[in-house]
Amino acid sequence: MNNKMLAAVVEAFGQPLVMRHLDIPVPGPGMILIKVEACGVCHTDLHAAKGDWPLKPALPFTPGHEGIGIVVALGEGVTAVQKGERVGVPWLYSACGHCEYCLQAWETVCAKAEFGGYTRNGGFAEYILADPEYVAHIPAGLAPCEAAPIICAGVTTYKGIKEADVRPGQWIVISGVGGLGHLAVQYAKAMGLRVCAVDIDDRKLAHATQLGADAVVNAKSADPVAAVIAATQGGGHGVLITAPSLGAFKQGVAMTRKLGTCVLVGLPPGEFPMALFDVVANCITVRGSFVGNRQDMAEALAFAAEGKVKADIELQPLSAINQVFERLEHGDVPSRVVIDFSAD
Ligand code: NAD
Ligand code: ZN
Ligand code: ZN
Repeated sequence: MNNKMLAAVVEAFGQPLVMRHLDIPVPGPGMILIKVEACGVCHTDLHAAKGDWPLKPALPFTPGHEGIGIVVALGEGVTAVQKGERVGVPWLYSACGHCEYCLQAWETVCAKAEFGGYTRNGGFAEYILADPEYVAHIPAGLAPCEAAPIICAGVTTYKGIKEADVRPGQWIVISGVGGLGHLAVQYAKAMGLRVCAVDIDDRKLAHATQLGADAVVNAKSADPVAAVIAATQGGGHGVLITAPSLGAFKQGVAMTRKLGTCVLVGLPPGEFPMALFDVVANCITVRGSFVGNRQDMAEALAFAAEGKVKADIELQPLSAINQVFERLEHGDVPSRVVIDFSAD
């Protein structure tokens, strides 16, 4: 076996990724090596490459946290997976397993958590190292390219909807109908919710309608908050904000019904103001949500394996990564681009 692999590497923040031939990593004790078949491109990868967030990844690094592939080598002592299994290497790359958060299945907020494609090299490479205790187990029958968006965009929105504390028949507002949001609409419909989709792009809204949204509102219209309140007769019982735009956050809180929950998922850098009196007097809950735990992952994948949720994907080779980033930045990706490693 040739011991080099191709990887798309961030060497400086805000600069194009560089294609490098790197040594194929060797799994140490307790780790595994995965040959990547597909990896989705999440807006988070763009934030990572730009160094958008307070805690920046150490340079150089390989982004990508929707990598799906086959286990090809096991480090010493690994029993959790076997060679030949198809797994995914998600954002939640590993955690300590025994802190107060891990013990409550909130490993996503473990202080020792590592993040795929951020604090650990990710799936924009032909091989990735992974922690077998934290990989996603890809159900048989789900193709790697279709599974890829589920392990970040899918689990994040599935969990986010659960965190909105809504019941079948109630309204959920999905703000941002891109990679995350187009799956959120489908999870919400599969859960029996009524969906009001909000975006700034009429093509994304038309797609949301095709996917089952009951109402759509363009956030660039004169008064999107009033339009959502009218469409939902009072606002969303739950609101899920996936838009990577601060303006959507202030609006999203205002689109929340009395006693409702507004779940913040999008991660544009910065802060946003909210109308304190309205939040207090309407008893609104505003809650952050960060990917999901391993059980959420298994559930999110099961919806996809059963055909209740299907990612809308566009395949591209790894060599196209910089053009894909450029388009994602400008909202020119219809839903999710997936890097197809059989294409290069
Ligand atoms: P994307 O670029 O695929 O989709 C974003 C969508 O938001 C687009 O359809 C765009 O038109 C729409 N949009 C932009 N401005 C808007 C506005 N003002 N109002 C309504 N819609 C607007 O991005 P994505 O991959 O879906 O990621 C979205 C965000 O979620 C990113 O900030 C990403 O980092 C974050 N994210 C968070 C988590 C988490 O665990 N919390 C997980 C994954 C991604
Ligand atoms: Zn992601
Ligand atoms: Zn922990």
